[in-house]
Amino acid sequence: MTTSEKNLRICEKGHKYFKSSDCPTCPTCEQERRPANGFLSMLSAPARRALENNEITSLQELSTYSEKEILQFHGMGPASIPKLRFVLKENGLSFRN
Ligand SMILES: [Zn+2]
Repeated sequence: MTTSEKNLRICEKGHKYFKSSDCPTCPTCEQERRPANGFLSMLSAPARRALENNEITSLQELSTYSEKEILQFHGMGPASIPKLRFVLKENGLSFRN
């Protein structure tokens, strides 16, 4: 057993989980946070948080930003932009010019 390096953590919602790193992310909450409307769930976790931190949780809100502005969000990488552009287009929307 090498559990000595893992710490039992309890998140604010009371989920118990073991983490060996300092990452405070609870896997159960992470799972629950996956939005039903989809577009956030296709992004990497840092990119998703970047949008959520800026209160962008819908495509409508996303479309009020330009690609340049989105890229400036902490955690957002260039690889996410084509995915976002695609899903916006699929829904008849686009980034602000
Ligand atoms: Zn949790």
